[in-house]
Amino acid sequence: MSEQLKGRPVAKAIYNEVRTALEKAATTPCLHVLMVGDDPASQYYVGNISKRAAKVGINVEVESLPADVSRQALLQRIEALNADAAVHGVMVQKPLPSHIDTAIVDAAVNPAKDVDGAHPLNVGRLALDRETLVPATAQAVLEILRHYGIHTAGRNVTILGRSAVIGRPLANLLLYKNEPGNATVTVCHSRTRDLAAETRRADILVAAIGRPRFVSADMVREGTVVIDVGVNQIEEGGASVYVGDVDYTTVTIKASAITPVPGGVGTVTTACLVRNVYYAWQRMKKIDR
Ligand code: NAP
Repeated sequence: MSEQLKGRPVAKAIYNEVRTALEKAATTPCLHVLMVGDDPASQYYVGNISKRAAKVGINVEVESLPADVSRQALLQRIEALNADAAVHGVMVQKPLPSHIDTAIVDAAVNPAKDVDGAHPLNVGRLALDRETLVPATAQAVLEILRHYGIHTAGRNVTILGRSAVIGRPLANLLLYKNEPGNATVTVCHSRTRDLAAETRRADILVAAIGRPRFVSADMVREGTVVIDVGVNQIEEGGASVYVGDVDYTTVTIKASAITPVPGGVGTVTTACLVRNVYYAWQRMKKIDR
């Protein structure tokens, strides 16, 4: 049976780091969240961020806009928040309604306040290994590896999924000449020819595809470290439950270590997002001086 890589101790260490730094600086940074429409999953995620942020001394303002808000009205709100010196982080919660182009919104947020790390400038800086704001989920995977002393240098890391929020930024981070980093990275997607052959080569396997229990035991080599990023809501036994992209029950027998869902990557993602607000505040202070 494998070691369970729980997210809670990792998140706790991050919250402690942020709380201590903010107490020392005697400041309360502010994150402003724009929510378009009333997606329940988004409301839950943002509610959780607000609760966690408050505990470490970060103020979160949540502003709800109607689902039919025009692109222009949304961009005007972003502009106003970009210019507001009392706001240190700006987050536009996704998914956005289909009449609003996400790429345009990402590029409209001031890169210095872009706590989602989605602005093209920040994406480019990440690819070039320069200081930047990094998407929280990709950070969370690295934090788990670091916390549990799982080395990546020279090892084969296979990532399932090439999205802009997880697969791509994570691949970049794992290529850094750091620890964690220095990995040999393979990124798979829906057009990968023999997925199981790729996953079986992995020393560390990261699943981020949004397919419930997709990764089965026969896709995993004995002793692999498995990081399950997936969060999928399914109906089972007459109840609604959350499961990962990995078939936990069978894969845990072969893996040397595995993250649970829930209670794994997601828990740490919230902490990394909260820490990004602190990082944004810190960078703003540097610019002020
Ligand atoms: P996404 O944008 O839909 O991307 C999914 C990726 O998986 C795509 O690259 C897609 O390939 C690939 N894919 C889909 N089906 C596949 C298959 N059968 N075989 C191989 N590759 C396949 O999703 P996302 O936003 O990255 O999210 C992925 C998962 O992570 C979801 O379950 C989401 O809920 C979860 N998530 C978790 C956290 C957390 O904190 N734990 C945060 C964010 C998201 P193509 O590019 O070829 O289409």
